[in-house]
Amino acid sequence: MKKYKINDISFLKFSLFILIIIVFCLIFFLGGGVLYFEKVRYVDSFKFYDFQIHVINVGQGDAILIKLPDNHTLLIDTGEEKSSNILKKYINQFLKTENLNCIDYLILTHLDSDHIGGAEVILNNFNVKSLYRPPIYSVYENENFDLKQDYSIVDSQIYSNIIQLTYEQNCDLIFFQKDLEIKNEFCKIKFLSPSNYNYSESNNFSAVIQIEFQNKRFLFMGDAEEIIEQQLIKDYGESLQSDVIKIAHHGSKTSTSQEFLNIVQPNIALLSVGENNYGLPSIDVLNRLNNLNINILSTYDDGSFALTVLNDEVIFAVEPVPSCDMAIVLTFFVLLMLVIFKANFQKTQNNQNIKNH
Ligand SMILES: [Zn+2]
Repeated sequence: MKKYKINDISFLKFSLFILIIIVFCLIFFLGGGVLYFEKVRYVDSFKFYDFQIHVINVGQGDAILIKLPDNHTLLIDTGEEKSSNILKKYINQFLKTENLNCIDYLILTHLDSDHIGGAEVILNNFNVKSLYRPPIYSVYENENFDLKQDYSIVDSQIYSNIIQLTYEQNCDLIFFQKDLEIKNEFCKIKFLSPSNYNYSESNNFSAVIQIEFQNKRFLFMGDAEEIIEQQLIKDYGESLQSDVIKIAHHGSKTSTSQEFLNIVQPNIALLSVGENNYGLPSIDVLNRLNNLNINILSTYDDGSFALTVLNDEVIFAVEPVPSCDMAIVLTFFVLLMLVIFKANFQKTQNNQNIKNH
């Protein structure tokens, strides 16, 4: 039998060490382990579907990207500024996957920073065709133009910057209000609120939008509060019924009253919420949803997620979760084999030594 030299043994050990690393890396990355390093996990389960709704995990805030059946894109809100990089990456991935190149409609539901914070980044990085905003003027417009409508002017630097950018980019600027529609051949997109322009709470300026596609209805509530829910019940009654509701105000108890839920009768509730100090979502709201057996999808628990309509049903998919269980199991197995191999090797060596003596 061949006698091993010290150099051979070190080389063997080194080769085995490298082998373990290669085996682990291969299985780790093939098993989606790379997702551990990705902050943005794109949900591509409905790739090329005509109609897609992506609720993007931007932490505490809202950002909902919708692909309309005629290949138009609609973005409802842009999250906080600090999460704009995540949003930018997600939208880039979406446009690349779907072979699209612009955002046709950007809707800023109201002027709170967790909804418009990322808008400058969006306007600077994407071709935005039109911007829909609440009936409120910016300081920039007040200083530069003769204002036509009797709307209030809000003193917000971030809003002012956004509006200035849209003027510079020749992007269409549209004030939304109750009953305004975005024309689309294959689905109905309608604003249900606001119905006036002098609310005391910023949240109540929120665009409430209902989208109907293949007899399925989706209701996006912005941060509208209970007073708006009452108004909606008065204005629209049973036509508020929707299969899916984007819960208002990140699940705050200021909204989503029992009465409103009884009329909307959703099967799925979308919750866009992150780490926060406001006690969101409220336990009361979660209890109300659970008592009605409504399926809750939350960016806090599920990350980003997407929905579509298939065979007359609303279906959803959550972001891919990295799994390196296989990598760990197989690496453990290789290690075990090596330990056994080493034991046998030593035994053979000892036998050899005894023989030689
Ligand atoms: Zn908000």
